[in-house]
Amino acid sequence: MTQLSVQERFSSVRARLEALGLWDADALVRIAPGAVFRAAGEPAETNLFSAVSAPMAVLTAGRYAREFVRKPHALHAETDDAAQMFGVRVPVRTSPRRGDTACIVPDRGFVVTARFENELIAACILLEKLCMTARLSHRIGAPKALSAPLCLMEHAVYMKKYSRPSLAAARGEESAPETREAPDLALRESVIAYGKKLAENRLIQATWGNVSARIDENRFLITPSGVDYDRIRPEDIVEIRISDGSFAAGQRPSSEREMHRLVYAQRGDIRAVIHTHSAALQTFAACRESLRTPEIDAPCASYGVSGSKKLAESASGVLRSHDLCIMANHGFIAVGADLETALSRAVAAENAAKRLLEAE
Ligand code: 13P
Ligand code: ZN
Repeated sequence: MTQLSVQERFSSVRARLEALGLWDADALVRIAPGAVFRAAGEPAETNLFSAVSAPMAVLTAGRYAREFVRKPHALHAETDDAAQMFGVRVPVRTSPRRGDTACIVPDRGFVVTARFENELIAACILLEKLCMTARLSHRIGAPKALSAPLCLMEHAVYMKKYSRPSLAAARGEESAPETREAPDLALRESVIAYGKKLAENRLIQATWGNVSARIDENRFLITPSGVDYDRIRPEDIVEIRISDGSFAAGQRPSSEREMHRLVYAQRGDIRAVIHTHSAALQTFAACRESLRTPEIDAPCASYGVSGSKKLAESASGVLRSHDLCIMANHGFIAVGADLETALSRAVAAENAAKRLLEAE
């Protein structure tokens, strides 16, 4: 196991946030307790993170956060991913208090806290999305906040679900040698490749979203639950039976497998399903608004909690007659005759949503 120095870990965080447009000239990064860096890379003396119990934290801002922090207000969780990461709301504070997972710092940016690097990057993407929704949603409607008990439940489930595997990965621990068989290898590799494309196209953060592809009329392959896309191995991809949703013991398919399964069961023409959490479409999802342009027809399906039968039924209900669906307070789903078609539909819909939100 290679131990990176705090300086190397800082450089990695900076490079990743820069590539995402989430790096601020006045950024501060806590890589570990006692190791805080300024944007230029020199050590910083600051009390900003002194009440933060998580090992990592960052103060930064992207384009929308920079606008938002001039006249900030508390941000309520309006999508499941925000509730999972931050709980009920992100408060406005001059510095985070004990127990805050994140906060908005007036005229500076946002602070997010995390247990490991991938979580830190995901939290920054998520908070920038919340700021985008806060800045632009009035152009299409009004966001509908999720209830406080639901947010608390989602946060607790997330903290548990993403504790062990991601922490092990973050520490560079190798996973056990694999013994499972991996038939349909080429299709498994395609599913993995398209999972990576979700991140490259900024359609997801961290392990959110999922990808599946039909093998034949009876079976499909789907990404595992909660595994970083760049760590998924062919044998982690799970084969599911379309008739009853069954799969081999010991496997951990995506929590949204039922949503994918119902689409394959009802539409013989569909060979690929992609679920995303992209920013502009999630602003539509937060407002429970459909997206309709001359080229795009994405109705909004009614709300169901992540991974629930209700969500699977509402989204697949829309997908009986459409290739695109906004999932209320959650995200987006695109289907197609192959993975490339589904992906390009998700990219086109995100671009159309962004154009509509940003139109003067
Ligand atoms: P999985 O990691 O279980 O696929 O879940 C991600 C997601 O986006 C849930 O809606
Ligand atoms: Zn999702």
